Amino acid sequence: MKTVEQHVNDVLGLIAPPEPTELDLLRAHGTVLAEAVTSPVSLPGFDNSSMDGYAVHAADLASATADAPVSLPVIADIAAGDGGPVAIRPGMCARIMTGAPLPSGADAVVPVEWTDGGTTTVRVDRPVRAGNAIRRAGDDVREGAEVVRAGVRIGAGETGVLAAVGRRTVPVFPRPRVVVLSTGEELVEPGRPLGPGQIWESNSYMLAAAAHDAGCDVHRHGFVGDDVATVLDTLEGLLTRADVLVTSGGVSMGAYDVVKEALTRQGTVEFTQVAMQPGKPQGFGTVGPDRTPILALPGNPVSAFVSFQVFVRPVLRKLRGLDPDPLPTTRAILTSPVTSPPGRRSFLRGVLAESSHGPDARPTVAPAVRQGSHQLSALADADSLVVVPEDVTELPAGAVVEVMRLPEG
Ligand code: AMP
Ligand code: MG
Repeated sequence: MKTVEQHVNDVLGLIAPPEPTELDLLRAHGTVLAEAVTSPVSLPGFDNSSMDGYAVHAADLASATADAPVSLPVIADIAAGDGGPVAIRPGMCARIMTGAPLPSGADAVVPVEWTDGGTTTVRVDRPVRAGNAIRRAGDDVREGAEVVRAGVRIGAGETGVLAAVGRRTVPVFPRPRVVVLSTGEELVEPGRPLGPGQIWESNSYMLAAAAHDAGCDVHRHGFVGDDVATVLDTLEGLLTRADVLVTSGGVSMGAYDVVKEALTRQGTVEFTQVAMQPGKPQGFGTVGPDRTPILALPGNPVSAFVSFQVFVRPVLRKLRGLDPDPLPTTRAILTSPVTSPPGRRSFLRGVLAESSHGPDARPTVAPAVRQGSHQLSALADADSLVVVPEDVTELPAGAVVEVMRLPEG
């Protein structure tokens, strides 16, 4: 049996580095920037007011008090977006709005709250410091400065600064296109009636959701029955839509393990056993003329889910232009004992809780009671996977374990 790390490396070896493309800003949200973006301008582009008030010469108000306010004639009204040149000489002022360009001559803005709000003359009842309420050109971004580094995932804040420096499109690694296909003669589309021995199909929905959470464009093809020709035809028809194919089911030792049978014949897909539980049988390789990567996951829903988190997720990260890191881990105290088969790494569903006892206290993790690889209810409740190493077969309550945090989606 292969180790988990060997299999991760093998599947990552299938993945070529992604090619950048230019995407419209909103389409780029959630993708990874391929080249640094610098600003062609300074931000702010010009000195402007940070408040609604009056642009003044600060020296004119040196003597202003509540008992002896200073009155100034208001010679202009400057709104945000006004472009015309305005100059104010000593002894005068201009009404100014937030974001409006500071008139030449002015060296401070008096907030409207310090005044009587006059429109022809204004009374100011206290002095103002030079520079008050002025946003200077370039105090946010200098012309030519890098505003978003290459390799950064574009979130809402990055999208804001990219627009603010005038970008409509940016060079990014596009969202990987993931195609999900399940197999199984027993499967029925949710919403349709079940016959005897049949079950509602869940893996393709779960895997599509997980791939979507992982920042990909997903095409859920649904499922096909256990027929080799149908599986091959369906995969072939899906190739043009896929940067990576993910299948579930039909990869173990049963009599109708259709994915294994179909793809073994291709010669480009390998079926292997990984020293883990759940998720021991795994298939991986390429299909079609463009050598599209394929990961063939086991059909038990929890096995498919764990396989996704451990193997597919790093693949998708690499395709997105991110480091193919495993899920982040923390160390936590088990609240109840667990067992694990010898020689295999277990990934048990768990629920983490932050400990309230002091700053260096560890979180606790409660392993799910139902750990069967068909038991989806525990998976839905879980926020983490407890990792039990290959050489450990049991751990008591109170043991400190490594825990992978599941993505929040
Ligand atoms: P297989 O790997 O195809 O032998 O399937 C293993 C178990 O997982 C069987 O109990 C299947 O019924 C179940 N299973 C396989 N595929 C799916 C699916 N897409 N949705 C729900 N259960 C499935
Ligand atoms: Mg099956």
